[in-house]
Amino acid sequence: MKLDLQDIEARFRRHDVRLTRQRAAIYAALVETTSHPSADDLYRIVTRQQPMMSRNTVYYTLSVLRNAGLVREVNVGHDMARYDGNVSMHHHLICLGCGQIMDVMDEELNRLHLSSGQARGFDVLGHRVEFHGYCVSCQQVHRNVSPRRR
Ligand code: ZN
Ligand code: MN
Repeated sequence: MKLDLQDIEARFRRHDVRLTRQRAAIYAALVETTSHPSADDLYRIVTRQQPMMSRNTVYYTLSVLRNAGLVREVNVGHDMARYDGNVSMHHHLICLGCGQIMDVMDEELNRLHLSSGQARGFDVLGHRVEFHGYCVSCQQVHRNVSPRRR
């Protein structure tokens, strides 16, 4: 999704995040990609436009944006954190081979709910479903070492 500066300003204001040019650039880059980049990936993307941006700024800004609820962290096993600029309800296909993360938008999954016996009085605010497996290109590589089915 392409965002203009006014959209970014409004979102930052709503989430109580102080706006700086660098923060806006990092946030815009994250919202504009569906690749769920790591902090280092994002650093590489952003420094194409802003070569003066430091790696520390990217890391620190991601933690500010995440704590403010503007971006979401997606963890893939023990791999490094990956970031998602889309905080609306959606789910993920995660490749165990290449680490690729793809969005799944599915009304049916959005409507998942716990049976009353499982909720234990918990006030559930949301849920995220992750499908783990191998993407089409990794299936070629992993054909002979396919994971045990659970
Ligand atoms: Zn893959
Ligand atoms: Mn996503």
